[in-house]
Formats: sequence, structure tokens, C-alpha cells
Amino acid sequence: MTTAATPKVNLLDFDRQGLRDFFVQIGEKPYRAEQVMKWIYHDLEDNFENMTDVGKALRAKLTEVCYIGAPKTLLDKVATDGTHKWLLGMDSGNAIETVYIPEPTRGTLCVSSQIGCALNCQFCSTGAQGFNRNLSTAEIIGQVWVAAKYLGNVTHQNRRITNVVMMGMGEPLANFENVLKAMKLMRDDLGFGLAAKRVTLSTAGMVPLIDQLSDAIDVSLAVSLHAANDDLRTELMPINKRYPLAELLAACQRWVARKPRTSITFEYTLMKGINDQPEHVRQLIKLMRKLPTCKVNLIPFNPFPGTQFKRSDANDIHQFQTQLLNAGVLTMLRRTRGDDIDAACGQLAGQVADRTRRSADIKKRQEEGASHAV
Ligand code: SAH
Repeated sequence: MTTAATPKVNLLDFDRQGLRDFFVQIGEKPYRAEQVMKWIYHDLEDNFENMTDVGKALRAKLTEVCYIGAPKTLLDKVATDGTHKWLLGMDSGNAIETVYIPEPTRGTLCVSSQIGCALNCQFCSTGAQGFNRNLSTAEIIGQVWVAAKYLGNVTHQNRRITNVVMMGMGEPLANFENVLKAMKLMRDDLGFGLAAKRVTLSTAGMVPLIDQLSDAIDVSLAVSLHAANDDLRTELMPINKRYPLAELLAACQRWVARKPRTSITFEYTLMKGINDQPEHVRQLIKLMRKLPTCKVNLIPFNPFPGTQFKRSDANDIHQFQTQLLNAGVLTMLRRTRGDDIDAACGQLAGQVADRTRRSADIKKRQEEGASHAV
């Protein structure tokens, strides 16, 4: 009698507890899971045969029932400023992007959570690509694994990757369980061992899931704000209709109250004539008074093909920041990195086999617009 072979399990899909459970399930002691985990994340080893402190019989068994499978690199590019971008192949012609941003005192990896994004923020190139599916835990933590291996990351001292931000393609809270497991592996000492303040999740504002996240793990939170009044924010980010500013800010206040030693960073992308005027800065200052320990991160808009938005003028950006600082709001200006390889914020597009009609609709509108123009 022949039975269909059980598909092999990818060990990158498990956090520490899941890996222990898996080892028990295959009749092994749970501590073996920790031994293997160290090989995977500290030594970046994906071949059981090289795990010298694992017995021969167990190595053979593991080879039979499971594997360590990180995403495949289709393309990797380096920008003139040293920013790296990897295009990683997924199933069915999809691909996602991961970006590494080296700075003098840290190295930040920007990780994707979904193939495309369903939220349709008007100024985001991932949004314009529509949505295909959530990434698995293996596909999320696999991005860190691939980059770490490429960069020759070492654990603890002199790491190349000192920070991870869930700011690539997708809305991480919309893929809650898989993102949570992957962030547990980023934080775990037997994983990448990063402190809570060095792992950041950025959300467009899925309010109930912000509360759920604060229960589940200690990480840092960034919230994409982009407008401090509901009308404009709803125009730019349709999710604001479902979770308007008052609800979003209340969730942020709950987050800060529960994690008194942390703060929240509010991302504000500056678009010329849209959200960069004096009235907008006044609204933002007023809003930030409700969250006095939080910060603002200003991002000059990064253009992408087909967008109607433009980057604010340098002078307006400067004015905007100065007014916030004068009002006592801690404000940083994000330097644009990697824009010559389309690796800057909001430029990550990968290849999305769109399941929504969005990318087709946008293309049609652009074509109509172009024919009207002639
Ligand atoms: N979906 C999550 C994760 C994306 S993070 C979120 O919305 O927070 C990427 C950050 O870049 C977000 O703050 C996003 O709003 C911002 N962004 C998107 N498109 C951009 C663009 N074209 N230029 C500059 N920033 C952009």
C-alpha cells in the first residue's frame, strides 16, 4: 500500500514554543529544539548534517521530516548610499522586497508582512499593487535570515542587523499571528536576540489589533498618521473611516499607559500641498499634546510611477519640522535612503499577483487620464 508522503515541515514557521512542541511530536526531547534553533538563527545553518552536536540518528530523522527553508533571492541591488534591496521569490510568480539600511551606529532591516496590501493608502506604491496573500512566519523571519546570512551578521556584539522594522510591504497587524511569531523569533535570545526597542511594528491604525499586540509581546510601535484631521486622513487612508482618529489616539494612549517606558512614533509623510500647510502642522501639534511622550517622524514623500502626489518643498519640510520642535514635539526627519533603487518608504512594490481589481483599475484610470490629456 502506498500512502501520500506527508509534506515536510519548514522549521522557520515555528517560534521557540512551536519548535519545542514539534520536537515532542516527533518523539524527541524539547531541549533539542533549542539546540537546533541556535544553529538556525545564530549560525544561520540550514543543513542538518552540519549541526555537529545533534546525533547522527536525529539528523537523519530531521532531514526526513522537516527542512529549513528561507525565501529564494531573485535579485539583489545595492544603492549608492549602501542601502541593499532583495527581491525574494514567493509562490505563483509573486515576489516581495526586503531592505537593509546601514547607518554609522546601526543597521536597520525593513521587512515585509504581506504580498501587496489591502488597505489602499492613496500615496503608497504597495497599496497601488493590490493584495495577494499574507506571508507565512517562515517567509517573514526568512527575510531576516537571508539578509543576516548575506551580510555576515553575527549574534550579540558587532551585529550587522541591529534593528528590524515591520515597515516593508503590507499591513503587519492584518497578518497578526504570523507576524507575532516572527517578531518573537527576532526578540528571542536563541533567535536574533533583539531588544524590544529595536523591533518595531508599523501600522496604518488597526485599532483592536493594537490592543491585542500590546498584550502579546513587547516591541516598539509606529503609527502611520499622515493627517491630523479625519476628513483628510480618510481621503488618504481609507482605514480611517473604520477607525477614526479619536479611536486611534485612544488606542495609542492605552498602549503608552500599559508600556510606560516606551513611546510611539507617528509617521507623517509630507506631500506637497496636501498635508504640509500651516493648518496641518497646527492640527498635528494639537493632537500630539494628547500623547506628550510620543514622537513624530517626518518622511518626505517618495514618488513612484503613476502617483499624483509630489514631495513637499524642502523649505516647507523645514518649516513643518521647526514648528513642531518649537511646540515641544520631538520630531525627526527621515532621510530618504535607497531611492535610486526604489527602496525608499512607500516604493516597495515586489511583484504582486493582484487578487483585488485594484492594480487593473488604477492602470485603466491612468490610461484614461493620459488620453484626456492629449
Ligand atoms: N502598513 C504599515 C507598514 C508600512 S510602513 C503602515 O502603514 O504603517 C511604511 C511607511 O511609509 C508608512 O508610514 C507609510 O504610510 C509610508 N509611506 C507609504 N508610501 C509612502 C511614500 N510614497 N513616500 C513616503 N512614505 C510612504
